[in-house]
Amino acid sequence: MSEHTLTIIKPDAVARGVVGQIIARLESAGFRIVGAKLLHLTPAQAASFYIVHQDRPFYQSLCAFMTQGPCLAMVLEGERVIARLRDLMGATDPAKAAPGTIRKDFATSIEANAVHGSDSRESAAFEIPFFFSALEIQPGPAARALIQDEGADSPRATEPAAP
Ligand code: UDP
Ligand code: MG
Repeated sequence: MSEHTLTIIKPDAVARGVVGQIIARLESAGFRIVGAKLLHLTPAQAASFYIVHQDRPFYQSLCAFMTQGPCLAMVLEGERVIARLRDLMGATDPAKAAPGTIRKDFATSIEANAVHGSDSRESAAFEIPFFFSALEIQPGPAARALIQDEGADSPRATEPAAP
């Protein structure tokens, strides 16, 4: 079943100019980009986004890292995209990431690890609306087909009657 996930190309990867290479991997995997925005997080926004980690020793440093420059947040759509993105990203620590994963190839440390991906449906349900309103997410093929079908039957789709 098709689902959505949130990914972030983190400030380290944006600063190093590897956004295009990372997006190419996401598209090659068949993930559809249905929302995207470049933004520079404030400390309060980073702290809220990573609130689940507030008791971890790396929390303060992580929040500082995420505010050091712009990042690219995206909503991806695809079959099992949550788990498949996590596989494509690789382990949190690039030293432990499998060959061919994004983190293996683009991360520089366990903190500056190039990408974020929601780890579950519950996380995605918190993280997607954190960055995107419903209006900022493009409908996928299934929703588009429905809209087109409705449009064909609707009076708005017909020419106005001659006076
Ligand atoms: N992180 C860190 N040190 C650690 C573990 C995590 O700096 O020991 C950072 C890293 O940027 C990671 C983020 O905190 O991506 C969130 O951690 P999580 O355990 O959720 O890893 P992820 O889901 O991103 O693989
Ligand atoms: Mg995580």
